[in-house]
Amino acid sequence: MSMELENVLIAKQVNPTAVRLLVLEYLLKQKAAISLSDLETELHRADRVTLYRTLKTFEEKGIIHTIKDGTEVTKYALCQDECNNGLHSDMHIHFYCTNCKELYCLPKVQIPKLNLPDDFNLQEMSLVARGICKNCKK
Ligand SMILES: [Zn+2]
Ligand SMILES: [Zn+2]
Ligand SMILES: [Zn+2]
Repeated sequence: MSMELENVLIAKQVNPTAVRLLVLEYLLKQKAAISLSDLETELHRADRVTLYRTLKTFEEKGIIHTIKDGTEVTKYALCQDECNNGLHSDMHIHFYCTNCKELYCLPKVQIPKLNLPDDFNLQEMSLVARGICKNCKK
């Protein structure tokens, strides 16, 4: 297992256990967001509870963010570098491809600023665009 992966976890104050390193390695290889079931299929030697806890820890520590794409399934994707322990700054749009059913982060496309009334406190916001992704367009 590479030192680089270990360092990513250590930098985010996560103890680099074997399972966590495997999950991180898998996440780094993905071009689209993943679900817990995807992870289970890939890492069949680890049990579901451990994988779920690993995702929760990663989310808490600012390594991944969760995305609701309108289905029942929660998706997970790696964060940008600015995310930290308990503080996410993933204010980008997500794109759901209606053809391949994959969900993509579009980190360069920011969610537009909303002019909310003063007495409304924004905590989080998500925006999922739907359409055909670049891979399916070919
Ligand atoms: Zn984040
Ligand atoms: Zn697609
Ligand atoms: Zn994202």
